[in-house]
Amino acid sequence: MQIVIQPVQLPMHKVTWAVWTHGCRNRVEEFPQPADFEARLGLFPYNFSGFGGQLFRIRRSRLYFWNMTSSKDKSYLQQAIRLAREGIGQGKGGPFGCIIVKADEVIGTGNNLVTSTNDPTAHAEVVAIREACAYLNSYQLTGCTVYASCEPCPMCLGAIYWARPDRLVYASTRLDAADAGFDDDLIYREIALPAGERQIPFVFMPEQEALDVFRAWKKMSNKKLY
Ligand SMILES: [Zn+2]
Repeated sequence: MQIVIQPVQLPMHKVTWAVWTHGCRNRVEEFPQPADFEARLGLFPYNFSGFGGQLFRIRRSRLYFWNMTSSKDKSYLQQAIRLAREGIGQGKGGPFGCIIVKADEVIGTGNNLVTSTNDPTAHAEVVAIREACAYLNSYQLTGCTVYASCEPCPMCLGAIYWARPDRLVYASTRLDAADAGFDDDLIYREIALPAGERQIPFVFMPEQEALDVFRAWKKMSNKKLY
């Protein structure tokens, strides 16, 4: 096992990063204000739980986060990156790849297919999740690890939470994606805004019938919860 310190980003905030990879610091940006950092401290265990890691050290307003990864993780992650490269070579879509592994078996693979299929939801993670779930004949990815060439966008993050794998490992960050012209970070920022302040208006128009559907669902005895 080797220790890899992974990037973290705090919601509701300008970002701070402390990215150390294999003992070599490749990017560190200061937290906007140390006081902000302290103030958010209590939220960290919750925010990080999805990554399966833990906060272990704070020094000079920088955040250090570590997670145990293995050489198998590295190999699978490289497969995801390879898919990303193959995808752009074949004109399939953006430079993103993903594989899903359960008990040392690759059960789903995907690369970005947005432009070749005219499907804005055909991100590598979504494509791989669909394949893995079909393979398992299940809507849950219990016991699986998702390897993504890049930190997932908010849509894929949502898909990953719905699929509930054990863990996610990724190789580049949303800032790297933004630098390449994919502004996932914009969507992350939009999520934090009130509905009325978003670039795409989200209009709440209450309808009783919409609530009636929920009522009918709650009463159903033969429903499948997920
Ligand atoms: Zn995505």
